[in-house]
Amino acid sequence: MGRLDGKVALITGAAGGIGRVAAELFASEGAGVALADIDDEAGATAEKEIREHGGEAFYVHADVSVDHDAAAMVEATVRRFGALDVLFNNAGVMTEADASVLDTPEDVFERTIDVNLKGVFLGCKHGIRAMLASGGGSIVNTASFVALMGAATPQIAYTASKGGVLALTREIAVEFARRGIRANSLCPGPIETPLMAELLADEERRNRRLVHIPMGRFGTAEEIARAALFLASDESSFMTGAALVVDGGITAAYVTPA
Ligand code: NAD
Repeated sequence: MGRLDGKVALITGAAGGIGRVAAELFASEGAGVALADIDDEAGATAEKEIREHGGEAFYVHADVSVDHDAAAMVEATVRRFGALDVLFNNAGVMTEADASVLDTPEDVFERTIDVNLKGVFLGCKHGIRAMLASGGGSIVNTASFVALMGAATPQIAYTASKGGVLALTREIAVEFARRGIRANSLCPGPIETPLMAELLADEERRNRRLVHIPMGRFGTAEEIARAALFLASDESSFMTGAALVVDGGITAAYVTPA
């Protein structure tokens, strides 16, 4: 028995990092999975590998910041699998030039908000319509621990976008609670994925982050995918409007052990 047997899941940013691992996990738990991304080559590879392992999956090109693409990825999912039960709005970007409010260029702020926040808005806008048509569902929106705490090494646009995701998710949860739709945020701590590769390659920057994690290590994409699976599945059936923190203890700590 899979934990997502009979369910249809749409995952954005599914060609790499956390989304890719989540797509494999959701498929192995019995879901039909639609993988949306802008990286067509990696998306096609992900689709192929999931199928080779006996999963049901297909790739669809979608830039989550574009309304037409968001509508089309939902349409393609429903056309292929007949319904939408799980929407994992995972796609996100973090840009090198995103830093202090004093230095971050306006276009970097706009692009970050466009993908990380408007992308979630558009996914929900089109996804919820499909979920209402198929009797409800579970939405998982990726925020971050930086939506909960401030940092002296700022990434102002990224942080603002993730704070928006938390607020948007709460409101969606309340509005649709009696119509069978749950919506929760996922707040990962620092995870070793391509998103963080550049930052974590620099030993000084790596250690500056590591020192704040009580567990003394970065998380893995699997650890976030498993939390997403819990929120996606009926195991979390009384949870909505919550922020699930998966951060190795960062947000619990005042002083971390040496
Ligand atoms: P990643 O960079 O490894 O993968 C992100 C995927 O999203 C890529 O496949 C990329 O092609 C895709 N993508 C980028 N822009 C897109 C767009 N406009 N439309 C569709 N797809 C797009 O990132 P990750 O580390 O796996 O992060 C996944 C999510 O988790 C993001 O929302 C990120 O902000 C969040 N998060 C990551 C960390 C971390 O430390 N890695 C921590 C907290 C939150």
